[in-house]
Amino acid sequence: QFGMSPQFEGFARIFGVETEYGVSVTGAGQPVDAAQVAMMMFQPVVSRARSTNTYLVNGSRLYLDVGSHPEYATAEARDPMDALAQDLAGELVMTRLAVQAQHRLRERYGDGVAVHLFKNNADSAGHSFGCHENYLVRRYVPLETVEHQLLPFLITRQLYTGAGRVVGDRFEITQRADFLDEAVSSATTRSRPMVNTRDEPHADPDEFRRLHVIIGDSNRSQWATWMKLAVTHLVLCVIEESARLGVPSGLECCALADPGEANRAVSRDLTCRTALLRLADADGLRRAVRAVDDDDASSISPLSGDTAVTALALQRYYLAVVRRFMREHASAMDAAMPATTATRIVAEWQTVLDSLEHGDTAALASRVDWAAKRRLFDALRRRDPGIAAAQLERLDMDYHDIVNGRLYPSLVARGVMTTLLDDASIKRAAETAPADTRAALRGAFVARALERGSRFSCDWTRLTLGGDAHTEAVLIDPFDSESTPEYRRLMDLL
Ligand code: ATP
Ligand code: MG
Ligand code: MG
Repeated sequence: QFGMSPQFEGFARIFGVETEYGVSVTGAGQPVDAAQVAMMMFQPVVSRARSTNTYLVNGSRLYLDVGSHPEYATAEARDPMDALAQDLAGELVMTRLAVQAQHRLRERYGDGVAVHLFKNNADSAGHSFGCHENYLVRRYVPLETVEHQLLPFLITRQLYTGAGRVVGDRFEITQRADFLDEAVSSATTRSRPMVNTRDEPHADPDEFRRLHVIIGDSNRSQWATWMKLAVTHLVLCVIEESARLGVPSGLECCALADPGEANRAVSRDLTCRTALLRLADADGLRRAVRAVDDDDASSISPLSGDTAVTALALQRYYLAVVRRFMREHASAMDAAMPATTATRIVAEWQTVLDSLEHGDTAALASRVDWAAKRRLFDALRRRDPGIAAAQLERLDMDYHDIVNGRLYPSLVARGVMTTLLDDASIKRAAETAPADTRAALRGAFVARALERGSRFSCDWTRLTLGGDAHTEAVLIDPFDSESTPEYRRLMDLL
């Protein structure tokens, strides 16, 4: 029964990233309500789609709930690199909307007005908002396995995916550790706030889950967005395959005694090497380290203390387990991704862990957001030891402002910050959906509907033509980009 479709047997994955943005306005000479500005941004969307919730020609979803956090959810992608392109296309789409709103605000308040759109996860008033990663996972992976085997990985990967944040006179590796910690204490299931277990697979529910990861930060670094999806995918491959075969994955021993506490500890330990995370079963990890027989794994002992381990050591262990897994499965894993190879991901992973091991966070500043910011802030503090915390907080926000921010573009322009995709490919991703998922069908449908001025609506699994010809097509398989008779009929009606 597992041999039904090739992607079911293999390691094919669907990736999607949802990004919520923060909005603010400066220079108007009076307070301007962020929710109103967000509404103004969506004016062109509303006049085109008659709603603040719509799908775009690249297959992605653009929407505004009540409040002031516009959201962009990328079209389904099969490769982390394509998901990155779609996420950057989202920045482009949002920027266009913000610039147009800024233009109108300037007519009213003068040329000093600036609209700021923050791709981060916390505003100055202490509210947090999200960046959610979505991974299609086979249904036979139990949710406890996700909690025990994936969550410790998600918490410790923040060493290289954290976006960094100035909090008063402190600096933290991640944006949201404090917010999530609060959520953890009030939730009934520990893993719920970090991995949302709401069951909406947007695919055949008998075969698939959609894993909804909410612990991650929004990244400006292209490498970090790509990397967090890519490396999480590898760990999911290990977890999935062992669940399919009903054999141990080797990751059982990684379960943390208190994920919320561990998350906060990782975020606050700028050395990355001192915070100790308590394990549910430290002896288990010790035995597993001996069993995995890998240079990386052996370098993680001795475990500090009796029951605890550093975030870096845990990452090393995950790397060792993935590498062992790849000895058998590397070619199948590579076949599942059109652009990224498992070997490349592992090489990048190894390199960042080595740099962290050597305490060389400066070496990460070209790829890791928190390290880039920290290097900058350290340099500023050396120049002006009395620099105010408020000034650093402003610069922190500037780094995330995709419309009027100066820090991040200047790092890119000076070649200090690495990029993976050029402007042309980002522009293309704003105009075209990934070709190898159902998003291609959705994108073509939206494009034609807009061209003909037809009323339409979508969700991830459905295309609907409004007006008189009330017709729809169902796209239940996210991997399937082949048109069906139903889809062709719908397109013919347009
Ligand atoms: P909301 O934000 O309204 O609470 P949500 O978080 O459940 O809803 P969306 O914001 O609509 O969902 O985003 C869904 C994301 O999941 C998109 O990025 C999409 O590409 C991705 N996605 C769609 N289908 C699948 C699937 N079968 N498996 C994994 N990801 C999927
Ligand atoms: Mg969403
Ligand atoms: Mg979501």
